[in-house]
Formats: sequence, structure tokens, C-alpha cells
Amino acid sequence: MKSADDSLPRTGFGYDVHRLKPGRKLVLGGVDIPFPKGLDGHSDADVLVHAITDALLGAAALGDIGKHFPNTDPRYRDISSLVLLNHVAGLLDGQGFALVNVDATLILEQPKILPYVDQMRENIAGALGVQPERISLKATTGEEMGFVGRGEGAAAHAVATIVRR
Ligand code: MG
Repeated sequence: MKSADDSLPRTGFGYDVHRLKPGRKLVLGGVDIPFPKGLDGHSDADVLVHAITDALLGAAALGDIGKHFPNTDPRYRDISSLVLLNHVAGLLDGQGFALVNVDATLILEQPKILPYVDQMRENIAGALGVQPERISLKATTGEEMGFVGRGEGAAAHAVATIVRR
């Protein structure tokens, strides 16, 4: 098999889950959302930003978020995941890649996130240094089924397309 032309777009996929836990802040897309529970993790556990970060790393074949930001490293304790996303944007920029678009879906039973979606898009676009029009965010629930449906956690899926400048 031959490799395709290096100027063609590349697509990456990202997936993440985090557990919901009382006493944690709920941060999604870099927005602090008032809710009695938050996502548990080493960083701020922003499941949406983690899925997007992995999609970008995947598109560039640069590994995954755990490789770049180990959860054993005290530097990343409670860090805003937007900082990590911004770092990955810099890595891709350094390799000559530009962002075409990101499309992500957040899967969460509660709370409703529609009121926060535009702010999330702005936060993510800001961390990536692109216009919010490049970032698509959607949300759905677990229809009361499975770990999401029982309110035990949240999941996110993302795809990202990049191209060499
Ligand atoms: Mg994660």
C-alpha cells in the first residue's frame, strides 16, 4: 500500500469517560457549570476537552493525552484541560498542521448543557487559536440507560480534521 499525498486532510478520533462525584466542580468545555456533582480526575476532568485533545493527537498520529500528560504528574493536578488542549495545538502547529474542523458529542444525563454550548465553543476555539465556527458541539443523554443514564458519569466523542499548511 502506498501513502497518500501528504497535503491531504487527516482525521482523528477521541473518546473519553469520567465518573461524576459529589464535591467536584463540573467543568465542561472550560465552563464551570453549577451542579451538585462534578467529574472526577487528575486534571479538571473536562471529558469533552479530553476527547477533542485525543482526536487532534490522533489526527497527527502523536499518541494520546495520557502519553503527553500522565495522570501521575503533579503538574497536571486540577489543571484546566484547556491548557492541555492549547499545548497540543502548539504541538500540531509546530508540525505544520492547521485545523479544518472539530465535531464533538457530549453524553450526559444532567444538567442540560445547551445554555453553555456557545461559551464552550468559544473556549475550545480560543485554546486552539481558531474561529468558533470551526468547532461543533452537540449533546445527548443516555436515555436513562447505562452508566450515563444512571448519572454515574459522562462520556464524549470527538473527531478532528487537520491538514498540512
Ligand atoms: Mg479524561
